[in-house]
Amino acid sequence: MNPAQIELAGIQRVFHLGDSEVHALRDLNLSIAAGEYVAVMGPSGSGKSTLLNLLGLLDRPNTGVYRLEGRDVTTLSPDEQARVRSQRIGFVFQSFHLVPRLSAAENIALPMVLAGLPPDQRATRVKQALKDYGLEQRASHRPDELSGGQRQRVAIARATIMQPAMILADEPTGNLDRATGVEVIQLLETLNAQGVTLIMVTHDAALGARAQRQLMMEDGAIQQDLRQTAPAASSAGSPPISCVTTASTLCALPT
Ligand code: ADP
Ligand code: MG
Repeated sequence: MNPAQIELAGIQRVFHLGDSEVHALRDLNLSIAAGEYVAVMGPSGSGKSTLLNLLGLLDRPNTGVYRLEGRDVTTLSPDEQARVRSQRIGFVFQSFHLVPRLSAAENIALPMVLAGLPPDQRATRVKQALKDYGLEQRASHRPDELSGGQRQRVAIARATIMQPAMILADEPTGNLDRATGVEVIQLLETLNAQGVTLIMVTHDAALGARAQRQLMMEDGAIQQDLRQTAPAASSAGSPPISCVTTASTLCALPT
């Protein structure tokens, strides 16, 4: 068993809206090993995006500790967090979050510009990424000149250009038709097969079932933590699922 890459202990995230409090995450404990493929599922408002934003150091918990690769990243300064994010984490969003004024190639290069990589190295890597993601003919197109699938491929190329240890994807297929969505998932799964940890929010049960592990969230808590006993994705039919830990509910086994 690999040592934990991600460890959350006692994580709470409370949002204040006027006089009311929203408990987006309630006392969350979670351990994820390097190279895992995890689907985060659950109804709208259950805390999936809040969890992913915390894992991606885009947000901070009110209480609790987040250890990333053994290091407590909860207490880092914003600049230090940005450095960790830049070097270790790739983020893919539902609505792509590309910079509208920049071409596909410039969007892909952006993390390397921010990290201060020299221009020749940037050019080499962008060229390879455009090739890897089938975007060579689209290098100089702006996002509004690309299809949804092409935009998400640019976003994935941008998320992986710094060779992160983990990819966090929040409903990456939410704005794509089914066939294009499956293509995007396959790209992410290829990266996972190369050793990158993949944590993906989806409310599509069929996509979630491709992951080796499924976290079922409800009302800010992980209600179920399911692991496939056989390799996912390529296996035919419904793979067997075993229950590892549960919160308050019983494990639902596939029928
Ligand atoms: P999900 O991604 O599962 O749909 P979220 O993590 O986005 O859920 O939200 C969890 C809860 O926290 C929801 O009740 C949501 O309204 C609330 N929430 C999320 N972000 C904020 C915010 N920035 N300010 C106030 N409430 C928020
Ligand atoms: Mg969400």
